[in-house]
Amino acid sequence: MSERTLTGTGATPRSDVGTVVWYSSTAELPDPDDGTVEPDVERERFTDARETARDELEDERERTAERVGEQEAEVFDAHVQFLEDPQIEDGVESAIEDGLPAEHAVQRAFADPIKQFEGMDGRMAERADDLRDVRDRLVRLLIDGEHVDLGGLPEGTVVLAERLTPSDTAQLDPECVAGFATVTGGRTSHAAIFARSLALPAVVGIGEELHNIAADATVVVDGEAGELVVEPSEERRESARATREVEVREEPVTTADGTEIEIAANVGQPAELEGTKAQGADGIGLYRTEFLFLDREQAPDENEQYETYTEALETFPDGRVVVRTLDIGGDKPIPYLDLPEEENPFLGERGIRRSLGPDADLFETQLRALFRAAANGEGQLSIMFPVVATPEELSAALETVSTVAQALEEEGIDYAVPELGVMIETPGAVFAAPELAEQVDFLSIGTNDLTQYVMAAARENERVADLRDPRRPAVLRAISRTIEAAHENDAWVGMCGEMAGNPELTELLVGLGLDELSMSAVTVPDVKAAVQSIDTDAAAEHASRALEATTREHVIDRIQRNNANQ
Ligand code: PEP
Ligand code: MG
Repeated sequence: MSERTLTGTGATPRSDVGTVVWYSSTAELPDPDDGTVEPDVERERFTDARETARDELEDERERTAERVGEQEAEVFDAHVQFLEDPQIEDGVESAIEDGLPAEHAVQRAFADPIKQFEGMDGRMAERADDLRDVRDRLVRLLIDGEHVDLGGLPEGTVVLAERLTPSDTAQLDPECVAGFATVTGGRTSHAAIFARSLALPAVVGIGEELHNIAADATVVVDGEAGELVVEPSEERRESARATREVEVREEPVTTADGTEIEIAANVGQPAELEGTKAQGADGIGLYRTEFLFLDREQAPDENEQYETYTEALETFPDGRVVVRTLDIGGDKPIPYLDLPEEENPFLGERGIRRSLGPDADLFETQLRALFRAAANGEGQLSIMFPVVATPEELSAALETVSTVAQALEEEGIDYAVPELGVMIETPGAVFAAPELAEQVDFLSIGTNDLTQYVMAAARENERVADLRDPRRPAVLRAISRTIEAAHENDAWVGMCGEMAGNPELTELLVGLGLDELSMSAVTVPDVKAAVQSIDTDAAAEHASRALEATTREHVIDRIQRNNANQ
């Protein structure tokens, strides 16, 4: 059979080869048989299926808690709650009354709630995936469907699926799974983020064509090119295997002339910590703590947060762990908080604006947990504030820092106020960078938001993707200005947006003067390798040439010429 290639969006710059296992959470239902339905029998079948589903979920919860972590296991609690939701139960009952068999009744009862969540923005839409998970589990049990155990797959498996939900990915064992590919999903979908943290080859958003790939086929998952190659040639298999054998540099690296550049990783949940360390990250440069608040019924309390932050510090006892305080709002809603419907959430109440306003209590609790974790002697904690636009906001956040410290002091609780910093993500913060840097120890440039705000091009809007390129002269100048302001005010400065993880840009970023780069763990080895070949004087010259360019094309041309001469 000859080689065939399907294209989608590459989630990780890694490839591997393996044998296809289809993971089908969506069971196909035959048409209902007219006239043979006995409501009492169907009711009983539904009750039995629900019991078994609950047992399965409890088992999977336990397994996930052991293998991945307590936080990840909590998604199963949410599933149990959906399973017991009285509204859904009423929906099933009325569909059975209308003469449907239990499996069809389940499909009908879940349809409206799923649609409602799908109509919502950002991560609220992911609740729809949770509901589908529960629905499909029930349907599978009712029709005796086959259940693929994602946690027990043989080595060298490539998982193909319509989509993978958080509960699915939490079960994947990176030691056994060679990669995965999905019909739906984009670069920022949950499955893609998870793949990047675990350095798992993955291609998402391939489309319906994926369904044509049979189980047991041999495929290459090329997460760099965004390709799934069916029945690959021997040559292609070999080169795919080779990309997983990257050289991990566990020690901190310096440029060829001896300047140390800290290479850290971005994480959002404890399950990512070990994988991150395995890629050789020096520490955590961005802990997106809002992820700790998603997929659950209420906010984690002070003690739970203390444990979570302590775990990160213990994982990196010799490195820095930069925790970002909650960045709620924008594309990151939290179901149990009463967030306002905003006309334009990215320009509304998000990040520090909420922490200084409606979420002041959450902010204080988070700071208490962090200050306690900073005092327990493990690692080096740093805290930074997101989406700051004015020096006044920073002053207000620092006032809260003092209030919280004083309260802990009065309560006789062990605490320490760690290093503090600000994310530079808004044009306001760039122009106020000197006044911000004066008040803190470090700045960290969030190029994902900074690019969207400088170029007025929304993060998820593909129609303006071209504008949203950090290699635009305006964005480069904003970055350069921030770095200068930080250094003039004795603050160190890092970058934690996606731009930091592109090894093609490492020399430019080091040349601009960044002290730290933080990225998806999977890119750490490549960026560390790039740093080691840099000469800082040559990098500074390259950066000043790139800064003089007046169009994006010029910037790209200068970067390419420079890289070609290496
Ligand atoms: C950024 O904006 O660049 C950033 C790192 O934060 P987030 O992607 O979480 O908004
Ligand atoms: Mg941001």
